[in-house]
Amino acid sequence: MFGAVVVGIGTAGWVRIRDMLAPLPGSAAEKLNVKGFISRRTLDTQQGVSQISEEEAMSREDIHAAFICTENASHEDYVRSFLQAGKHVCVEYPMTLSYKAAAELWDFAQEKGVILHEEHIELLTEDFKKLKKEVEGKVLQEGTLHFTGGVLKPGFGFQAFSGIARLTWLVELFGELSVTAATMEEDSGTNYSKLTAKLLTSENRPLTWIEERGPDLPRAKNINFHFDSCTLTQIPPAPRAAVGLFMQDLIQFSAKLAGQVSPEELQREKTRILHCLQLAERIQQLCQS
Ligand code: NAD
Repeated sequence: MFGAVVVGIGTAGWVRIRDMLAPLPGSAAEKLNVKGFISRRTLDTQQGVSQISEEEAMSREDIHAAFICTENASHEDYVRSFLQAGKHVCVEYPMTLSYKAAAELWDFAQEKGVILHEEHIELLTEDFKKLKKEVEGKVLQEGTLHFTGGVLKPGFGFQAFSGIARLTWLVELFGELSVTAATMEEDSGTNYSKLTAKLLTSENRPLTWIEERGPDLPRAKNINFHFDSCTLTQIPPAPRAAVGLFMQDLIQFSAKLAGQVSPEELQREKTRILHCLQLAERIQQLCQS
């Protein structure tokens, strides 16, 4: 069994506790046992789980893993502290708000001999799995992924990082990318922002990623992918999976703890995560230059 602590009781932290209390029967997630939660606030027990201090979580031998579910700006420090204490870490995306910090944390995890896992539930949705199947074997000419959504709370970082899920979709669909241009429109008066990033595939095919946020914008993803054989203008609708997305991620993390994931798969994931963070950083630099 692996004892675990959840850091940050927002939407994600609450779901982590819920899923550990009722893991999917017969799955690797049954190996996780929630021992407490950490919050910067003083809170009552959450779903029957008690608050503990960071110091206690770091020093307790029956706590082997930490779930970092705070706002993005504080991920890096929490991940580093728990790795330093020799604990496995599952961090909600994005791992950090800089590429360099993430690269250092991966090295640190390796040095400490522990698992560092970044949650990417957007890759586990049925919509994405269906889209991936649709795209497979087709030759891209050009494409656009346009995300709209509400305003983010403070502490979620620059849009290329807070929107890493969209960038990750593009990389998983079309392979490694490079950034050719990026711009940011912002209106602080209305809380509106629009990031436009121009990307290229390794076959020099152009992709545009737009991340648009504002108070009245619905949460939606629009695609326009031109292939040599057809055009995809809609994400193929798919019914939700029976197993929740965070539960699927919990099972993946537990499988890593139990040594059930091959080194090749771990390396593939690490390469993808670092590549996406590197792209995000380049986009930020171009927007701010
Ligand atoms: P959230 O705003 O619900 O919580 C973020 C942080 O704010 C937490 O540390 C929480 O303790 C704190 N917080 C929440 N309510 C508070 C209050 N009333 N007073 C003071 N502090 C409060 O954000 P979230 O959706 O849980 O996101 C956390 C992390 O999970 C982020 O890194 C995000 O990118 C990631 N994530 C979330 C989802 C999701 O569906 N919510 C999906 C994927 C990744």
